[in-house]
Order: sequence, then structure tokens, then C-alpha cells
Amino acid sequence: MNTGRMFIGGEWVDSCSGQMRSITDPANQQLINRVPEADQDDVNRAIAAARTAFDKGPWRQTTAQDRGKILFAVGQKIRERAVELAELEVKNCGKPLAEAQFDIQDAANCFEFYGGLATKIHGETMSVPADSLSFVLREPIGVCGQIIPWNYPLVMAAWKLAPALAAGNTCVLKPSELTPLTALELAKIFCEVELPPGVVNVVTGPGPGCGEVLASSPFVDKVAFTGGTATGQKVMAGVAKELKRISLELGGKSPNIVFADADREAAVDGALFAAFANQGEVCSAGSRLLVEESIHREFIAQMLAKIPKIKLGHGLIAGTKMGPLISYAQLEKVESYVKIGVEEGAKLLCGGKRPKGLEAGFFFEPTIFDGVTPKMRIAREEIFGPVLSILTFKDEAEAIAMANDTEYGLAAGVWTKDIHRSLRLVRGLRAGIVWVNAYHPTYNELPWGGYKKSGLGRELGLHGIEEYLETKQVNFHGDPAPINWY
Ligand code: NAD
Repeated sequence: MNTGRMFIGGEWVDSCSGQMRSITDPANQQLINRVPEADQDDVNRAIAAARTAFDKGPWRQTTAQDRGKILFAVGQKIRERAVELAELEVKNCGKPLAEAQFDIQDAANCFEFYGGLATKIHGETMSVPADSLSFVLREPIGVCGQIIPWNYPLVMAAWKLAPALAAGNTCVLKPSELTPLTALELAKIFCEVELPPGVVNVVTGPGPGCGEVLASSPFVDKVAFTGGTATGQKVMAGVAKELKRISLELGGKSPNIVFADADREAAVDGALFAAFANQGEVCSAGSRLLVEESIHREFIAQMLAKIPKIKLGHGLIAGTKMGPLISYAQLEKVESYVKIGVEEGAKLLCGGKRPKGLEAGFFFEPTIFDGVTPKMRIAREEIFGPVLSILTFKDEAEAIAMANDTEYGLAAGVWTKDIHRSLRLVRGLRAGIVWVNAYHPTYNELPWGGYKKSGLGRELGLHGIEEYLETKQVNFHGDPAPINWY
């Protein structure tokens, strides 16, 4: 790998300041690599490279077919390097290997999906005045500043870059300062497929000083952000100064609703996976479990019986089902919420502490609170760790009201065998993604995004490319004649 460099204007460069950041494995705090610590000078350099590539470079003249071929080649190269990329992802962000392997394939699929879509960007024609030809052109927006979090580093990079490139934009990607390594490997792949210089730039640096510059620069035409809601609000404020295009994928506190008639085994499994996959560091995590009162006790017993199967450890160790949290700060945040839950009067059923024997990393046990009420902070605030809050409901109306009683609206799960009820829930839930008798499956073909404070706009699917296209009305008069107005 290109150790110690970031990717700007088609070259591997140091930061202007010469500052470096150590990237460590959250499972044992061992050094994995060092990357440049970019600041605003570096971001401006990357923006200038993307600007030149868009305004003067060959990228806009590239045919959709050629853009598609490049994206397919990127997908193929990701697959060829899947083993190495998955291991790097595990080391950098802590997730279990099986989850990282899935992520790598998902990232490859994303490039292939948008590779196919590049040639399907269609406008419209209409005959408004009979003597003219009127049509609608779809064009790239320009330079896109893309800011992503640490929980799915390569997947988030793919979700941002693939549709932007398919549409003909140029990009400055800023991965999380904690997890830049697979994004840098992706840049290496872009070199190998001979993407023109400056079309993709990867800047490694912190939010303040780097992300902020991308948000507020007058030379960036669109900002795509994934991260916490509070950060998204700051990004939006920066964007507002220049009134540029924006899409936001933000936080959540998603309800997972289990009715008494649900397939019990599937629902128990689904409730645990919804809450604890990726250590609970998932925007769409089913972190609020709403269980019908009549099955509550039994359901909890069935869940607790499975908790010992969630084996904690380094993600590269066979059998690991839960890795460490991303950082010490995140560990402290999760611990503080456990304290809050106890103080609020919720009943701690399991976990709530760091596991013994794994002190070198940022591990935290899968944690379940029962007796949670809708007003408690652990029922309302995004914890972003392996902490599940259980609430109970009496009937369908109460379940819907409780599920929607949140400022977020990213995802929701419903478990029932009653198809009529499930369809009523699908309509009643105010969330961008609703799973019925499942939790977490995500497809590149379908739109992803939130209602309310979970975001603006959509990624993935046909909707995802819309976020990277401008719309131009053209009125074409082939046979001009004076209109004799004056
Ligand atoms: P974060 O908001 O702290 O950081 C996200 C990114 O923004 C990072 O690259 C960071 O460096 C950058 N950043 C920080 N401050 C900034 C600023 N002032 N201006 C511009 N950029 C700034 O989030 P995180 O802790 O990295 O990730 C966790 C959050 O991401 C959770 O809230 C989670 O729900 C959310 N998330 C959402 C989705 C989704 O699809 N909706 C997906 C993954 C994660």
C-alpha cells in the first residue's frame, strides 16, 4: 500500500504541514499504519484538482459506456482483492471478518450496479410549442465533496463514489480520520483502472478543518455527508452559505416491533442481529425493541439464552461475533449511556460492562435494558454501540405511536405473520426503510435514507444517482423567426 500518502490529483502526496496520524487497531491498539493529517490547505488542493478535472479534464467528455466500464473494472478489482481488503477493514474498524467480507462484496456490487446505470441516465422530450423541440438533459453537478463515517468505511466510500462517477462528477472523498485505510486502497484501484487524474481525490484528515472546508468551499458544487445528526446540521449550515446541493445520511434510533404472532425463533434472532451486528455501530440498528406485552417475558428469556453465543474478540479470530468499538471515546460514550439507563430506572438484563481478558481493546459486552419507557434517554438518543432498550406495547396502535415517537426516521422492523397488519405497519411507520420479518438486509438496487432528522435525500438505487444529476430544460427552435414583440 502507499504508506503515509493520500491521493490528490492522481498523485500520492504528503500533507502540506507534514503532520501524520497513527491509525491503530481498536481490538488491541496496535499501530496499523500512518497517514497524512490533512488540513484546509490539502483539502483546497484536492478541491482544485477535482475542479480542474471537471472543468477542463476529459472526464465530462467520457462516454457513459466508458464510465460504466471503469466502474465495472473497479468492482472487479475489489473482488480480486477481497481477502486483503476484508482483513484491512477488520483491523481498522474492528468488525468481525464475516461482516467485513460481506461489506467488500457489497462495495463491489455497488460499483457494478452504478456501472450499469451510467448508460441509463435518460432525459425526456416533449413538444411544448409545436414548432420547437423541448427536452430535458441530465448533467453531472460538478465537484462533489463526500464525507463518510467509520462504521462501514469501504461501503460508505462506494455508496458515495459510484453514483457520483456514473453521473460524470468529480469527487473529493474524506473518510473518517479513524478509518482511512480501505479508502486509500480504493484510490489505488482507481489508479490501476486509469481513472483520469483529479476525478477522485482522497483526503485523510479530521472533520473540523477538513470536512468543514469541503462543506463551505465555493468551489464544491455538492456535498454528500454520512455521519451523526449533529454533525450533519453543522455541514448543512456550511453548505447554506454557498447554497449548494446537499444530501445527508444521518443517525437513527430505529424501532424493531415484535408481535405475539411472529415466528418466534426468527424474531429472537432478528432482534439480536438488529441490535448487535457491527457492535451496534449501525445507523439503522434496531436499538429500540418493542415487544407485545403478552410475550414479553418469554421473548426476553429466549434472547438472553442466546447472548453467550455472541463471542467477543478480534474480528480476525474464527468464531468472533462481536468486535471492539471504534475508539476509547466511543467506549466511554456507551458506558455513560449504561449509567444513564440505570439512573433512569431501566433494568439491566445483561452486559453493561467491559469484558474481562480483552482490556487491550475497546470491547463492550452486548447489553440489554428492560423496563424502558419512551421518555428515557436510552429510548430516545442514538448510543451507537451494543445497547438494546426493550419497551412493551399492548396493541398495534400503541406500537405504531411508540415507534414513531422519535426525532429520527431511518429504519424500522416488524415481525408478524399477519399480512394485513404488516401492511398497515408499513404505511404507519415514519421511516425510510421498513423490514418485515427481517432486519438489516440492504440492497444496492433500493433507495436508502431517512425521514425526519435521519437525513435528506436518498443513496443507492435509481434514486441515488438523482442526487448527483442536474436537470436542464432545453427549448430548441430549429427555424428561428423574429417574434416581433417590439
Ligand atoms: P461523525 O458525524 O462524528 O463524523 C462523520 C464524518 O464527518 C467524519 O468523516 C468526520 O471527520 C466528519 N466531520 C466531523 N465533524 C465535521 C464537521 N464539523 N464538518 C464536516 N465534517 C465533519 O459520525 P461518526 O461518529 O463518524 O459516525 C457515526 C454516525 O454516523 C452515527 O450517527 C450514524 O448513525 C451515522 N451513520 C449514518 C448512516 C446512514 O446511512 N444514515 C450510515 C452510517 C453512519
